[in-house]
Amino acid sequence: MARYSESVCRLCRREGMKLFLKGDRCFKDKCAIERRNYPPGQHGRRRSKLLGYGIQLREKQKVKRIYGLLESQFRLAFARAERRKGITGANLLEELERRLDNVVYSLGFAASRAQARQLVRHGHVAVNGRKVSIPSFRVSKGQVVAIKEKSRINEQIKASVETARARGVPSWLDLTPETFAGTVLELPKREDIKLPIQEQLIVELYSK
Ligand code: SF4
Repeated sequence: MARYSESVCRLCRREGMKLFLKGDRCFKDKCAIERRNYPPGQHGRRRSKLLGYGIQLREKQKVKRIYGLLESQFRLAFARAERRKGITGANLLEELERRLDNVVYSLGFAASRAQARQLVRHGHVAVNGRKVSIPSFRVSKGQVVAIKEKSRINEQIKASVETARARGVPSWLDLTPETFAGTVLELPKREDIKLPIQEQLIVELYSK
């Protein structure tokens, strides 16, 4: 499947905010947003004022980039959110949060969502004891997401778990660092998602 392969820091600069796509580097002063907080490209410093459609489009792009999705994947998540009862915007964020790659990241097994996606794809992650290698797999209440026993010696994973212990995990997940496992206590609600997202703008964009 096609993937964005250029510098991810350009994406943050385009959105004008930290999207935390690079793990530890995002917390250091090497972060591109700290150094050059203007859009990339020759005319980047001339940031033009956004109106209506532009604001909605940027919000959608921002969320898509935070979760590392392609347009088609994002559309699918939106379509599922729309079919469900309740508020479409909140449903959309819940759909995205429940993705296995996001849960692996939120539990601290990886330093970024991109790294988490790779862990899943490479077969290092199990759900309720069975290997799941599909990053878009949606977790359900009560499921246990764990790093497979053979993979627990991976230094990168160990370091990430230590960092996660210090940072804390979302309240809808429960991490047991000793066994590299996390339980889905309940499905995420809008208030559990602390990202600066105005999901209503995305709903408005797709309603046109
Ligand atoms: Fe974004 Fe992280 Fe790069 Fe900073 S270091 S610009 S937060 S990806």
